[in-house]
Amino acid sequence: MNKKISILTSHKDEIANFCESVSYPKFHATQIVEWIFKKYAVTFDDMSNVPKELRILLDEKYYIHSCKIEKIDVDAYDTQKLLISLHDNKKIESVIMSKDDKVSFCLSSQVGCAFRCSFCATGTMGFTRDLTTEEILAQFALMRSITKRVTSVVFMGMGEPLANTNNLFKAIDIINSSRGFNLGIRHITISTAGEVVGIKHLIERDLDCRLSVSLHSLKDEVRNEIMPISRRYALDDLIRMLKRYSERGKRMITLEWTLIEGVNDSVNDAYRIVNLKKEFPFKVNIIPLNPVPHYKGKCPSKDKMVRFKSILHDNGVEVVERYKKGRSISAGCGQLVIKNN
Ligand code: SAH
Repeated sequence: MNKKISILTSHKDEIANFCESVSYPKFHATQIVEWIFKKYAVTFDDMSNVPKELRILLDEKYYIHSCKIEKIDVDAYDTQKLLISLHDNKKIESVIMSKDDKVSFCLSSQVGCAFRCSFCATGTMGFTRDLTTEEILAQFALMRSITKRVTSVVFMGMGEPLANTNNLFKAIDIINSSRGFNLGIRHITISTAGEVVGIKHLIERDLDCRLSVSLHSLKDEVRNEIMPISRRYALDDLIRMLKRYSERGKRMITLEWTLIEGVNDSVNDAYRIVNLKKEFPFKVNIIPLNPVPHYKGKCPSKDKMVRFKSILHDNGVEVVERYKKGRSISAGCGQLVIKNN
């Protein structure tokens, strides 16, 4: 690993002390932090109001990002998929999504994923390691140096965010902090496959970000089949924890439901969701199954999807369908994968 220190995760006071230790006034730390968090600096040389000599000294002590963009694929909707290499040469993908005046960053939290949901390409990679706080922040910083703006962050890239809570929560603090990237907490969403202990940590940490839960079925036998995590946590345990989460009375949970023909698209499946309303409040995000090479399942017909959504809607469940952008560059939900990582 780089012997230098990450400036993204350094406190402003530490940077001020460093400036002083090399005989520069502490106020330069304010400029430096501003360059990092507000002005998209990618190198120390970008920091034009910082004395050149100090920039050289900073470069000897710190690094700005440990990651590098290797490739960007763009689709017709301006979805951008970034291939990012890490300090140990492992690679991840992350996605920038644009819609009207909104720009959303879809960040990864791990290299690969241990959960192996049957319909998800990332699971086929297996799990290599957690991303560090710095690597999570570096994805954000690199993306923002491209877009110059961001309206939301979703942890829906590679990996299970709630299996990496330590690094994730620190990164969210810095993304949210007014001393950091200053993005409102309600614009940050964590998506989980149902990591019950991770949800408990989220409750204990009392973070006010949004929570999406990849539910996909309310039948244990189906969930066990398509999402092996549910063999560790039965649906009852998950629902109990989501109830606890909801009882804090903060943000409403979103349930994600990737529709797969013959697996979770029946009338009964829709009514099971309606019945869940008596447990805790939620809205539903329907995701039409994206094609992935290893999985034989199919997306249901349009008629079936309309029927499914109508049952929810007619029974008072707020339901939206996630748009299909990014598919043509394999940047849609569940399509992120790196071979031979
Ligand atoms: N591990 C977390 C974060 C990933 S988010 C989680 O599972 O929530 C990615 C979302 O895409 C999840 O809801 C996941 O279940 C869904 N997904 C995976 N493969 C998919 C596919 N082929 N088509 C549509 N959605 C998929």
